[in-house]
Amino acid sequence: MQKYTLRPPLRLAGFFIASLKNLFPVAAALAATLSLAACDSKTATTGEAKTNPNAEAMGKIDEAAPTSGNAAIAADEANAKPGPDPSTIPAAKAGDAAAILARPQVPILCYHQIRDWTARDSKGAKDYIIPIAQFKAQMKMLADSGYHSIQPDQLYAYLTTGAKLPSKPVMLTFDDTDLDQFTIARPTLAQYGYKGVYFVMTVSLGRPHYMTKDMVKQLSDEGNQIGSHTWDHHNVKKYQGKDWETQIDKPTKTLEEITGKKIKYFAYPFGLWNTQAFPELKQRGFVAAFSLAEKRDQQDPLFTIRRIIASGYWSPRTLHNNMVQSF
Ligand SMILES: [Zn+2]
Repeated sequence: MQKYTLRPPLRLAGFFIASLKNLFPVAAALAATLSLAACDSKTATTGEAKTNPNAEAMGKIDEAAPTSGNAAIAADEANAKPGPDPSTIPAAKAGDAAAILARPQVPILCYHQIRDWTARDSKGAKDYIIPIAQFKAQMKMLADSGYHSIQPDQLYAYLTTGAKLPSKPVMLTFDDTDLDQFTIARPTLAQYGYKGVYFVMTVSLGRPHYMTKDMVKQLSDEGNQIGSHTWDHHNVKKYQGKDWETQIDKPTKTLEEITGKKIKYFAYPFGLWNTQAFPELKQRGFVAAFSLAEKRDQQDPLFTIRRIIASGYWSPRTLHNNMVQSF
């Protein structure tokens, strides 16, 4: 294992570059040109929208406070229902793209690192690094406001058949396998009876600052959904030939071995997708894929389910305003 000198959020990019350099100089150069510190392409490259990493999808964010003031939300059974397996839903019962697009979207939040900021964190990086107290305050706001966390199977049944969801549904997703998702997010979600969706990048498993296979298994065993986020976070739009095997097939197999469950959901690195990716993902058994704030594909909305990055700058009120306006 190479020496670890870079601190988050640069550690991710540094990790790839350092680990690839000896074996694959060309790949390392490529990795260095990509901003691997976060999932979103726009803010990572432009540095714009410091207080809103999903800028183009939203309007202003100065609405009234969302919370009901009721802090005593107990763990709710509605949070924990997994939903039917998509394979049990007959195709004939599933709606077409127009029907799916017509249904109100469920707010889906995307988190990366959950840790306090340091002097070395850039302004742009702080969209992807949420201070621990801020994360806890966001979760408390959701609970106080009566939100119920839902799982991808529930969302799939809702989108395809109109199946009922709990009141005020929200989906909590975590990308990139960061260790603090296990140490901080897991117990915080448990406090409110919430379940999360963890999109794992398999190259990072067991590395310093990332989750181990055992942690991923535990999350899965506890009723959270494990999804794929590729092997090492390369842009799906650039895959050719064996890339599909490296980035998709092998990671899926790894995650299925870890969890003992079928891996059905995918999150695009950087939120980037193209329509050529849909048949590739479908033939590999994925039933839905998650992007970021961009508009959904009008023919294949299930493979472009929108999420917003819950910025580290966002107070609970700002988060709520963005949820209301973006979905
Ligand atoms: Zn990512």
